[in-house]
Amino acid sequence: MIPPDHPRYRSLMTRERLAAAARDGVLAMEGLTAHGRGEAFDYLIGERTTGSALLAERTAAALLLSARHPVISVNGNTAALAAPEIAALQKASGAIVEVNLFHRTEERVRLIEELLTRAGVEVFSGTAERLLPLSHDRAWCRRDGMYAADVILVPLEDGDRCEALVKMNKTVIAIDLNPLSRTARAASITIVDELTRAVPEIARACRELDVGERERLVSRLDNHYLLAEAIREITLRLRACSG
Ligand code: ATP
Ligand code: MG
Repeated sequence: MIPPDHPRYRSLMTRERLAAAARDGVLAMEGLTAHGRGEAFDYLIGERTTGSALLAERTAAALLLSARHPVISVNGNTAALAAPEIAALQKASGAIVEVNLFHRTEERVRLIEELLTRAGVEVFSGTAERLLPLSHDRAWCRRDGMYAADVILVPLEDGDRCEALVKMNKTVIAIDLNPLSRTARAASITIVDELTRAVPEIARACRELDVGERERLVSRLDNHYLLAEAIREITLRLRACSG
């Protein structure tokens, strides 16, 4: 039992959730260590949505709304942490939701699709093919799903698939707490924020943005600036803590 007045209640509860998801077979064990790396960076940014992250979230919403074929790619961590939030984002953005896993088994795909469906997501499933130019199982996807996407949201992505998707001329929106990761550097736009804070903000912006604001946000997109700001926020915080 974790007492609600514990100073790290939220983080401890999240860990419990992920551990349960691993026991249920939704999350690969490796997903737990990926979360740990994320938590460390969340500490450094102060466990809050920074100004530049909010700008990135609003720009991501603008990109999804302007897309011809927007897709949200869901892995085990995303399903375990944010299934209802993904359902709300799908409603607000009109995007296709498709499961894509690094540690892929048919059984895990099925479990995650069921979890998402229970949370209200309309899951794009069907026969997957090895369509992406990758030597690991992230290559598996559906021809009319993420293979055809022009804009793709990839929470907690690995760097090489991110690079492959960009090479295929897709606009790639990453959510990654680590502004130094290959994913963060390779994406068209990186949201340096925690998944469960980021997804509801993107959904909110989808509901709020008018066409003029959308166009302005998309035309001013500068991932270099967003990453530099994220690193600057971390530096400021470290300096404040050390001073
Ligand atoms: P790369 O190959 O891009 O350099 P990596 O090997 O560091 O990435 P992985 O371990 O493949 O990354 O994926 C985990 C990434 O997701 C980490 O960079 C981590 O910071 C981030 N991450 C983990 N949990 C969360 C979360 N809840 N919200 C946002 N980002 C997260
Ligand atoms: Mg990686």
